[in-house]
Amino acid sequence: MIQRLKKLTTHRRPVILGVILVLFTVAFTQWRAAITRNRSIPDEPFQIAGNLYYVGHTGVAAFLLTGPEGHVLIDGGYPEHGPLIVESISRLGFDVADVRILLNSHPHSDHAGSLRALQEASGAELWVSRGDADVMSAGGRADLALGPARFLWFLGALRFSPPRVDHTFVDGDTIRLGPIELTAHVTAGHTRGCTSWSFPVAVQQDTLLAVSICSLTLFPFVPLNSARYPEIRADYERSFKTLRSLPADIFLASHTGWFDLHRKRRAQAESEHVADPFVDPEGYRSFVDRAEKVYLDRVSGQ
Ligand SMILES: [Zn+2]
Repeated sequence: MIQRLKKLTTHRRPVILGVILVLFTVAFTQWRAAITRNRSIPDEPFQIAGNLYYVGHTGVAAFLLTGPEGHVLIDGGYPEHGPLIVESISRLGFDVADVRILLNSHPHSDHAGSLRALQEASGAELWVSRGDADVMSAGGRADLALGPARFLWFLGALRFSPPRVDHTFVDGDTIRLGPIELTAHVTAGHTRGCTSWSFPVAVQQDTLLAVSICSLTLFPFVPLNSARYPEIRADYERSFKTLRSLPADIFLASHTGWFDLHRKRRAQAESEHVADPFVDPEGYRSFVDRAEKVYLDRVSGQ
């Protein structure tokens, strides 16, 4: 009886494997379609303060800084976000063709995914930190975040269409476009060239300093003693120091949840000036403190 059963399952093995493969393919396709749908939810563009606008979608930020000699766009979101960002820019009354400079926090597919499409739509020049330029030009390939599972890039993980890198910069460099002036702070660790941006924004009679934090997240697959990135710990420690040294008034970051964008957006309705809820130096400092605690726990656990 057992022998017959064995014979039957051996005989049917290709059929069973085929069914499993079909089920897996269907599940994988559904999962990818659900992700694309979720990432394609449009978000309301709005003014944060002065010439600074929010044009991001689905939790990943994109900021537009407008000026008389053209605009600057920071980050491009997921690959699905390109057309949504273009639409957000035009809903605010601006033209994507006036975007002259594209900047990026770091070359992961949730922040660099549509930079190529945005570059094609605007004709803007892209500036990338020297530490991230290679990963950007390779569409995310060989990213440290994948750890030893680098083959996952070929299956689409952290993969995006590579934009043209027009210029590179190093820590402390300033990028100007007419009256717009941004300082690059290379806060490395999450990637080798992870860039936080600081820039002044004129609000009423005041000038406030906006700081957009790149990322301080440490991926679980990334070892802190890897030969591929031996200076990772020194970089993280320097990044916490750099961010603490900046007198941020307006707290921004590459993910909207980190600086509570939607709550602050709602609070604008009751504020005297739109910028008020976004002036949040305490939120900025406590975000850096919490990120450092997570980092130190990981270091002591290793
Ligand atoms: Zn990232």
